Parts: sequence; C-alpha cells; structure tokens
Amino acid sequence: MAKILVVEDEKSLLKGLRFNLEREGHRVVTATDGQAGLDAFNREKPDLVILDVMLPKLDGFGFCKAVRAKSQAPIVMLTARGEEVDRILGLELGADDYVTKPFSLRELMARVKAILKRSAPSAKTSTIRAGGLELDLERYEARIGGKAVHLSSKEYELLRCLLEADGRALTREQILEKVWGYEKGLEMVTRTTDQHILRLRERLGAEASRVVTVKNVGYRFKMD
Ligand code: CA
Repeated sequence: MAKILVVEDEKSLLKGLRFNLEREGHRVVTATDGQAGLDAFNREKPDLVILDVMLPKLDGFGFCKAVRAKSQAPIVMLTARGEEVDRILGLELGADDYVTKPFSLRELMARVKAILKRSAPSAKTSTIRAGGLELDLERYEARIGGKAVHLSSKEYELLRCLLEADGRALTREQILEKVWGYEKGLEMVTRTTDQHILRLRERLGAEASRVVTVKNVGYRFKMD
C-alpha cells in the first residue's frame, strides 16, 4: 500500500510498529537515530513518516525541520511529554499529527490510515480559486499569484476544507473532523484548530485576510 519510514530508537516498539504496519500491507523502512532516519528519508522517499521525538544524533524536531525544508510527506510524531506536544502543535514545526506515549498501536494504525487516505491523489481534476489564490486538487498544491505556497499536508487539508465550504462558516468541530478525521477532547478542538488557522494565515501572506474568524462559531473563507 504505502512506503512508511519509522524512526524510533526503542527496539521493541520499532518491532511492534513494523509488525503492525506490514500486517496492513505497507512496506516498512526503519532507522534508530535521527541522522540515519534522514538518510533513509532521502534515499527511500517514503509516503509517510512515523517519528519519535527523543532520538540519538538528531532529535525528532531537527528531523522534522530538515524534512519540511524540502518535502510535504506526512509526519506522525510519537511524543512522551506535554511540552513536546506544545512544540509539535506550535507554529514552527510542520508535523501532521502526533500520539502520546504510551499509545495503543490500534490508535496509531487508525491515524496512519486516515492520513494516507487523505493524501492519496484525488481522482478529480479541478482547481478552486479565490482571488489570487488557487488550490490545485490534482497537483496537491496551493498557489498565490501563480507561485507555489509551502504548506504542510495538514495546512493543505485545512485550506481545502475551508475552500470547499465555498464561503460558508465551519465550526471548529467540523474543521477538526474533516481535517483530522477523528475526535479529540473539546479543549484540543479549539487549540489545534486555532493554531493551525494562525499558521495557515501566515502561509497565505497577501491572501491571509480571506480566512475570517466567525465569532462564537469558527471560520469561513472569503471567496470573492
Ligand atoms: Ca526515543
């Protein structure tokens, strides 16, 4: 199905991840430190990365940053502490999802499946336009004034979800369900959505004001 790179220094966890991913039909490439992970990423060009935060040589944050400089491949981070979660959700990183250790393999597999499903190329050939912004659904690319905008796959999905609402307001819960594909606690709903909206606005530059906050509801995208 997909080629998945797992970067994890805990051998028993790595083994469990490999077993479960291969059982789902995926091809699995592994590395046990950040530098080896980066080498494997460049060599193998995986469809998705499962990445531990605390790693020898180069940690998960460093890995994430290096990968994001050149690729939009989805990254799911495995994290141990709350402060790591804050950094993952933070503005500078670009991970697509995370699970907190200890996690159930079943939960992780469900998220991997959801992400792969979303990033699979769409059969539709179409482009959504709003002002100088174009979202090319076939090439999986956003452009402003014809110039490609760097978006993580989550930011892309968020933008797509707002654009497909065609000017209608979406609640944070609706956005979370569409973009993240699973349910979280209410506190996470607000925090995750708002942080990603903030970041999306930064990415959209001149078109940022099209992402409108609808008080007590959520967000909408100004189409004209
Ligand atoms: Ca570790």
